[in-house]
Amino acid sequence: MKVITNINQMQSLSCSMQKKGKTIGFAPTMGCLHDGHLSLIRKARRENDYVVISIFVNPTQFGPEEDFNRYPRNFTQDKKLAKLAGVDVIFYPTTQAMYPEGHKSAVCVGDLGDALCGVSRPGHFSAVATVVLKLFNIVSPSVAYFGQKDAQQVMIIKRMVRDLNLPLKIKVLPVVRERDGLAMSSRNSYLRREQRKNAIILYKSLQTAVGMIKSKNKVPREIICLMREMIKSTSGARIDYIKIVNLETLHDVKTVKGCVLICVAVFFGKTHLIDNMIVRV
Ligand code: AMP
Repeated sequence: MKVITNINQMQSLSCSMQKKGKTIGFAPTMGCLHDGHLSLIRKARRENDYVVISIFVNPTQFGPEEDFNRYPRNFTQDKKLAKLAGVDVIFYPTTQAMYPEGHKSAVCVGDLGDALCGVSRPGHFSAVATVVLKLFNIVSPSVAYFGQKDAQQVMIIKRMVRDLNLPLKIKVLPVVRERDGLAMSSRNSYLRREQRKNAIILYKSLQTAVGMIKSKNKVPREIICLMREMIKSTSGARIDYIKIVNLETLHDVKTVKGCVLICVAVFFGKTHLIDNMIVRV
């Protein structure tokens, strides 16, 4: 397994792979790898000749009050896990290399970036789309793998690929959970013991919502109301949003029909946790 920090070097390697007709499977990450990341890597390994991951904690997608400085980083452990999972190359650029002096261009994601997490994180999704586009241009993947855990991100990236005619496929893999149902996330390590215990309320409230829909409740207002009660009565939990939205537009649905996305975001202290489930009626 190689670690490449240099952009030109990464680009020429991908270029030579492409020339040989090899497929490149790519998973962009911010490191501190867990089973959620590894599910993407393993899938990429099964489906491609070559597997590249990136590890880059992208500063531009963090707000000034957010956790960029304390975001967990563990490159030594990441290298071990990546190697075991069959990664061929870790692309590990510096911030200076990714954003040299004078960098200005960005991807506009329209109103998709203003919904859900975009309300409390203005500019976040434009920054995510920009760094992902840069990574696509550097790695030239045949297929890029993303987790459904970050539902809004997935939707925005898929739309960018379609809108900008990017020559690759996007594959989305299910949310990987801890035993008790909490969605795996690098940010879970911020949680104190009590917060960690209570954080399963995200999963539980989503399960309740799915149960209501399966027993024929089609009224988002009623479903959200019950979810809100459940989360509000959980010690230490502060709701950011609970939404039932159209999978394509991220607009609130008036009634549950077809395919909808139920998503929830909750603060425990300063830690922002998100989770979601897709329901097909
Ligand atoms: P991150 O390092 O948090 O930027 O995540 C990198 C990739 O891993 C993104 O595509 C995430 O959606 C995906 N990912 C993170 N957590 C999970 C999880 N629990 N299940 C599935 N995919 C995940």
